Amino acid sequence: MISLKNVSKWYGHFQVLTNCSTEVKKGEVVVVCGPSGSGKSTLIKTVNGLEPVQEGSIQVNGTEVNNKKTNLAQLRSKVGMVFQHFELFPHLSIVDNLVLAQVKVLKRDKAAAREKGLKLLTRVGLAAHAEKFPGQLSGGQQQRVAIARALCMDPIAMLFDEPTSALDPEMINEVLDVMVELANEGMTMMVVTHEMGFARKVANRVIFMDEGKIVEDTNKDDFFNNPQSDRAKDFLAKIL
Ligand code: ADP
Ligand code: MG
Repeated sequence: MISLKNVSKWYGHFQVLTNCSTEVKKGEVVVVCGPSGSGKSTLIKTVNGLEPVQEGSIQVNGTEVNNKKTNLAQLRSKVGMVFQHFELFPHLSIVDNLVLAQVKVLKRDKAAAREKGLKLLTRVGLAAHAEKFPGQLSGGQQQRVAIARALCMDPIAMLFDEPTSALDPEMINEVLDVMVELANEGMTMMVVTHEMGFARKVANRVIFMDEGKIVEDTNKDDFFNNPQSDRAKDFLAKIL
């Protein structure tokens, strides 16, 4: 579903990604972890073309992302992305936040988009809040709205970049629960997170990054029980 081959990227003279290769198969959940500044956000953003790269090939469902001819708006509608900050439109109601892209990008009619939006709000436990505005919801609720918004587009894969790291501790689980459910339903997911409980529960593989390189890319049990690199051992010792 997602394939990166020898991806390298520079910001000016600074090389942020060095020769990164990996694959995410349909239905797989891959957790990306590593120290701050190791390139996790940059890597995950290359998958839906939010960060262009100078070298290498990135394919999503057979489409080359790193190609000027690729319709990135269309690609992004198919690869949902959820960030640390929810980025809901503050002046739109919750349900209208969910309707907007469906109408603009997928050209769904408003009634159908609304119905779909309400269905997904029910799924993340927020149907009762449909007519409220983002500012009236807690951080955890807003993040669940952001997930529902991405799901309205019927994505073939979902990317998450530290979706719980801006949340108060008591709200983390309500968001992780939604993500676990999504994983169990077979969604293809790439998740940057330090929530190792989540990784243990649902990840098929763990990618560990350091200084712009993929240092480990193994099944989760090997990663937790038998990390190969000193960097990964250090990292695990600090966060577990
Ligand atoms: P992580 O998500 O693992 O914390 P990032 O992918 O955000 O890491 O960043 C990796 C490195 O690239 C960091 O050193 C960061 O300072 C640098 N970086 C990120 N974005 C930019 C940018 N737009 N311009 C220059 N350097 C950047
Ligand atoms: Mg980051």
